[in-house]
Amino acid sequence: MKMLVDGAWVPSAGDRWLDVRNPATGEVIDRVPHGTEEDIGAAVDAAGHAFDRWSAVPPRERGKRLFFAAQEIRKRADEIARLLTREQGKPLAEAHNEVLGAAHVLEYYASISGTLTGTSATIPGNGYAAVVKKPLGVCGAIIPWNMPVLIPAWKLGPMLLAGNTVVLKPSQSTPLAALQIALLVQDAVGVPGALNVVTGTGSEAGEALVRHPAIRHVSFTGQTETGKRIAMLASGGLKTVTLELGGSDPMIVCADADLDAAVEGAVRGRFYNCGQTCTAVKRLYVDAAIAGPFCDRLTKRVCALRVGDGLAPGTDMGPLHREEERARLLHLLAEMRATGDGRLAAGGDVPDDPGLRNGHFLTPTLVTDMSPDSALVREEIFGPVLPVTIVTGIDEAIALANRTRYGLGASVWTRHLPTAARAAEELECGIFWVNQHLRIPPDVPFGGVGESGIGRENGPDAPGRYMRTQTILMKP
Ligand code: NAD
Repeated sequence: MKMLVDGAWVPSAGDRWLDVRNPATGEVIDRVPHGTEEDIGAAVDAAGHAFDRWSAVPPRERGKRLFFAAQEIRKRADEIARLLTREQGKPLAEAHNEVLGAAHVLEYYASISGTLTGTSATIPGNGYAAVVKKPLGVCGAIIPWNMPVLIPAWKLGPMLLAGNTVVLKPSQSTPLAALQIALLVQDAVGVPGALNVVTGTGSEAGEALVRHPAIRHVSFTGQTETGKRIAMLASGGLKTVTLELGGSDPMIVCADADLDAAVEGAVRGRFYNCGQTCTAVKRLYVDAAIAGPFCDRLTKRVCALRVGDGLAPGTDMGPLHREEERARLLHLLAEMRATGDGRLAAGGDVPDDPGLRNGHFLTPTLVTDMSPDSALVREEIFGPVLPVTIVTGIDEAIALANRTRYGLGASVWTRHLPTAARAAEELECGIFWVNQHLRIPPDVPFGGVGESGIGRENGPDAPGRYMRTQTILMKP
């Protein structure tokens, strides 16, 4: 496997490689170049040379080409999904959804390609004013390992539609499916160098990309601490940034909620992608009036989840992607047992199936009666552990839900519209759901407040966020 630069697979200027491992088995499935500063330089140069040609393509034609890319992704969805499962660990059905989701995102941007227009006005004394939008130039996109196919689409769709050219750096541990998607997009776009991919680590290829003087904007998704570092590096060149960072989403279940729907929402919200989703349900607040029946039903559902290799039929939940995160969660669970804070209702250990011994598996874990100050509630838990805190009424739930440095998503489950409206008003978050969680359609803006990020992705304004505004005043 090589890197994608100027429309072709190219070797790295260096001679080091990064192994890509299957987290379900530990086996090395491929290797990719350990991209260097020189590789980033070559990719940015290629994107710079392609800029005039790509930005001259009319927006509707750019949209058609993105649509064509989406069709090609759909045709290859089975093959790309298998690759995604093998490198990331998620069940095949989830991988398939993610690949189709990426195609859907590109189709969305194709559908709004006719909207990239400016505005005009007549200003007495100043003549005519035209406010036009122009692409920024070469943009950098830096991707995490948890959604390595969908997140590139969130960035590439609006960046390319706006007429920019792009250098993308996938996560070092999940570059394979992203490279396949990028090749299909590059081929459909038809201008060599419009989209380039450099594989490598964050500290080397990632930082070189952010620092490169020709990069005008960096769109990053990943951990909050990395986002802060990127903001600092980008500030040196006065580059604009989009930062989609960590989250600790609360889900509030009110006394009048539809309990079956809320149980299903909590299970999907927490255990989808083995709990490794930025907007996963990371803290559950349940009203004391229904806590008993709710927790009983939830425990049954969590115990019924089947853990296994994502490629095996019937698997509900695969391994954690990273061994370090499994070790951290096991440590936090051991601490929780030692302090007696919380009651382990399900899971909490490593599955004893010998066939899973070499993977990073953890049983789906439910901890009830948690104190709101426990580390499992306070920190971002990026794995299949769901802490439940019992509350009395919506006031307490909202107050506890807001006790975090993050502000990505939040949900409330209730049949009472004024309660939902009040929670929407008072919860500090970028996306708020009522009687659902985890849904992120490309049609509406998505992003966080506080330490969950700066800027927004998705929605009709997304291409405009990768454009600059020029005002032209004309006197007749
Ligand atoms: P990470 O920050 O470790 O890495 C993300 C990407 O940044 C990788 O490609 C990595 O190589 C690169 N990188 C690392 N250090 C860098 C540096 N100094 N300079 C430039 N690039 C660098 O994040 P991760 O562990 O891959 O992803 C998990 C995190 O992402 C979680 O915190 C999760 O909540 C967050 N996330 C947020 C969203 C969102 O939309 N808000 C979506 C998905 C994931």
